[in-house]
Amino acid sequence: MNLREYIRDVLDFKPGITFFDITPLLADPNAFRYAIDALAERYQDCGANKIVAAEARGFLFGAPLAYKMNIGFIPVRKPGKLPYKTAEVTYELEYGTDSLQMHVDAVKPGDNVLIIDDLLATGGTTNGMIQLVRNAGGSVAGIGFLIELGFLDGHSKLEGIPHEYLLKL
Ligand code: IMP
Repeated sequence: MNLREYIRDVLDFKPGITFFDITPLLADPNAFRYAIDALAERYQDCGANKIVAAEARGFLFGAPLAYKMNIGFIPVRKPGKLPYKTAEVTYELEYGTDSLQMHVDAVKPGDNVLIIDDLLATGGTTNGMIQLVRNAGGSVAGIGFLIELGFLDGHSKLEGIPHEYLLKL
């Protein structure tokens, strides 16, 4: 299946910036199932016992993949959204910084975590998740994306951890 057909290019979403809209893929049951199954196939033997994914679009792929792989799902959110005690990291954006939080007891020492997101752009979000997992004593078994933007060097922020994607744009 050519997943590219299910990604809509929204030109000038911000001046000069194209937004790659994944909602057509989500709306198509065959394409969505294909994407989740393809990620599951790649990661079924990676030894992860948990998936970590960041709001909001990361949840859309991380949660069904965790269900399919029969492993736990850990949500990472913007500050102030999670109800219990949290650990926080601050990561760099193109201009400025942003923060992500995870519950303090979500990842435990010795956990092997698969990090999932819809799209790799500058790599800041994923790097934040790597730090959250490592600070909690977990290790990163792998990193998976639906889409990698090849014209940005996001992979340089992945700390040398192997990553996979279903579509490179
Ligand atoms: P990064 O932190 O710069 O790698 O940006 C990746 C994060 O921003 C991911 O969590 C994506 O959900 C979101 N993102 C950035 N650009 C796009 C896009 O074009 N389409 C969908 N999500 C995007």
